Amino acid sequence: MAVRTDIEIARAAEKWPIARIGAGLGIPETALIPYGRDKAKVEAAFLASLTDRPMGKLILVTAVSPTPAGEGKTTTTVGLGDALAHIGKKTAICLREASLGPNFGMKGGAAGGGLSQVLPMEDINLHFTGDFHAITAAHNLLSAMIDNHLYWGNALGIDARRVVWRRVMDMNDRALREVVVGLGGASNGFPRETGFDITVASEVMACLCLAEDLADLQERLGRIVVAWRRDKTAVTCRDIGADGAMVVLLKDALQPNLVQTIAHTPAFVHGGPFANIAHGCNSVVATKTALRLADYVVTEAGFGADLGAEKFFDIKCRKAGLQPAVAVIVATVRAMKMHGGVAREDLGREDVGAVRRGCANLGRHIANTRGFGVPVVVAINTFDADTPAELAAIAEHAASLGVTAVRCRHWAEGGPGAAELAQKVVALCDAESRFAPLYPDEMGLFEKIETIAKRIYHAEGVIADKAVLAQLSAWEAAGHGALPICMAKTQYSFSADPELCGAPTGHSIPLREVRLSAGAGFVVAICGEIMTMPGLPRHPAAETIRLDAAGEIAGLF
Ligand code: ADP
Ligand code: MG
Repeated sequence: MAVRTDIEIARAAEKWPIARIGAGLGIPETALIPYGRDKAKVEAAFLASLTDRPMGKLILVTAVSPTPAGEGKTTTTVGLGDALAHIGKKTAICLREASLGPNFGMKGGAAGGGLSQVLPMEDINLHFTGDFHAITAAHNLLSAMIDNHLYWGNALGIDARRVVWRRVMDMNDRALREVVVGLGGASNGFPRETGFDITVASEVMACLCLAEDLADLQERLGRIVVAWRRDKTAVTCRDIGADGAMVVLLKDALQPNLVQTIAHTPAFVHGGPFANIAHGCNSVVATKTALRLADYVVTEAGFGADLGAEKFFDIKCRKAGLQPAVAVIVATVRAMKMHGGVAREDLGREDVGAVRRGCANLGRHIANTRGFGVPVVVAINTFDADTPAELAAIAEHAASLGVTAVRCRHWAEGGPGAAELAQKVVALCDAESRFAPLYPDEMGLFEKIETIAKRIYHAEGVIADKAVLAQLSAWEAAGHGALPICMAKTQYSFSADPELCGAPTGHSIPLREVRLSAGAGFVVAICGEIMTMPGLPRHPAAETIRLDAAGEIAGLF
């Protein structure tokens, strides 16, 4: 039998009207703003009426260090949500929205896979409800107002060489990474160097994802540092006077989007910040809405647990006052083999020894995650080619650390394929989670970076120039010392070297640069090459994407 592709499965699925999905969570139809028949935003006034409700259990899905073999975090988040619903629990799923641009580079959606998908997957991967377009517009309004301020006499005394606010677009376009604006003579303003980032890298995106409500969003936007003066003092978005108009552009985008899985489990798909220079998880508004409407909420954080879970705990949970109940660490036989030294082209051959060696990576993520006081279970996302001995090797390794590893077949079977995982998660939710962030707010900024490097990456230390250390001290003096750290490091290794698989030791973390995201509320520590505007490959997927004779999208997934 031919295996159906993700898009074939998604198209064949029967969707319920979105009002019926909302009703299952107790959302009245009048509180839904429908975007077509199968998507809706939940109205802000209704959200405000929920604030006194108790919150359900928050379940984080994270993973081992990613490999090119793919681990299936989103697929497992959806599959576990469906499984909890299948065993009779009132459940909601929270996911990030997808960036449009990357779909036209490489094939591959962000709505899960197999029988564990959120629908309508084409919309979710493309324009969806327009949130990213609104964020792009709000970001670029601020950019335009900064250049306009320079044009009309620069009353704020901005150093035009030190404007740090760039422009954004939701398209992979490497030609726009570095540009000169203001060319063409006096009537077009002052020429200066700047560039474009992809929309998900915008600090506006991070602000939207951490904001509690519109007032908080305006506060955060106002605090964004857009430029520096010659005396090194900061010029903010509020100084430019853009924060109010930006909130007007973002007022609909802050309302969470409701959709459904193939099995009709409600899913909030909202916000999508980069997982390197930002914190990589869906909006606080969506998570809190879900927690007030459901007993169990399953959510995903980007990359492996060293980056995704750490930021989820230390940035999102700390700042939003969330109490995670359980962490699910997704592992696959394929990923363990690659961490054990097997090349991608040899993944088809059974290699129990390599699985065992690769489990060192899983083991470290387990220990790190438990260090936050959160109970852990391993979800083995099974693939057709996995052998019983290889699967047993992962379970044995987890058991040797006192953790259960459950085999899951949700990709092939949907929710019922992860029912055992769901039972285990429910049991762990009843145990007491003693969640605590890794470091206190009061710790110095550099010490926070060292703490993450040593405790989570198991590095010897952090290497930084005097200039970087001086920058951190200056921000502490300017009142930003209590901010958490947002690490930007390769996701492929615990070290800063993407080639170092498994559980490396003896490495140090080079801290190249620090950036202040005063609006989002974190200091970004850049430890390696970080690309904020991707390019397209030699043969982008766009070359074969088209509408077929029936008007359906072909070539996208
Ligand atoms: P992540 O969220 O970790 O990046 P995804 O859940 O998006 O990963 O999955 C990546 C790809 O792998 C998807 O195309 C999905 O269909 C596929 N996939 C996930 N789990 C399985 C599985 N068990 N068997 C086959 N393919 C899978
Ligand atoms: Mg994912």
